[in-house]
Formats: sequence, structure tokens, C-alpha cells
Amino acid sequence: MTDHDNIPDRDAGINGYQKIDRYNPELIKNLSAHYHEVLKELGENPEREGLLKTPERMAKAMLYLTHGYDLNAKDILTSAMFKEEYSQMVIVKDIEVYSMCEHHMLPFLARHT
Ligand SMILES: [Zn+2]
Repeated sequence: MTDHDNIPDRDAGINGYQKIDRYNPELIKNLSAHYHEVLKELGENPEREGLLKTPERMAKAMLYLTHGYDLNAKDILTSAMFKEEYSQMVIVKDIEVYSMCEHHMLPFLARHT
């Protein structure tokens, strides 16, 4: 497996509200500073109560949306292999694809049927 330290743990919130963030704190700090400025440029007040943690949330969201850069497709695909007596073609359908548009950094979802 590759290093997944930047990937939020899906089970992090299961034990009550003891959510464990597994992000690189230095990276979060740097990205948050930029998002703080983005909010200001957009005419928002990042110091108002509702937005205080928004730059950090934006940083974590972007790291989550781009965590695939740290994954190895070959490792993932080979981890799903197993022996089977069946020798006919196997078709895998309804594969969901999540990615981001590189021109606008907007997330999108596709389904391959
Ligand atoms: Zn786009």
C-alpha cells in the first residue's frame, strides 16, 4: 500500500464524535492561508464566525478530492484479484468514476455502464 496519511479515514467518526484528522498539518496550514485570501478576494469576511474554519475545511476538501494522486491503481486493482474456477469472460459494470476537471478544479461523477 502507498502512504495514505493525507486521506481522511472513513471510520474516523464512528466512535462518538472523536473524529481523527489524518492530514499533513503543514500542508493544511499553507492551503488554508491561500483559501483565506480567496474568500477575501470574493468579498467575504473570513473572520466572521461562520467562516472561521472554512479555509481549513476548503483545504481538507481539496486534499480529499485529490487524494487519488497518492494512490497506485495497480496496487488497488491487484488487491481485488482472487482464484476462481470460472473461465468465461467477466464483465464489471456500473463503475463510478470520481474526478476533477483540470480546467476549473470542479469535481464530477461519471458512471461507466
Ligand atoms: Zn471545467
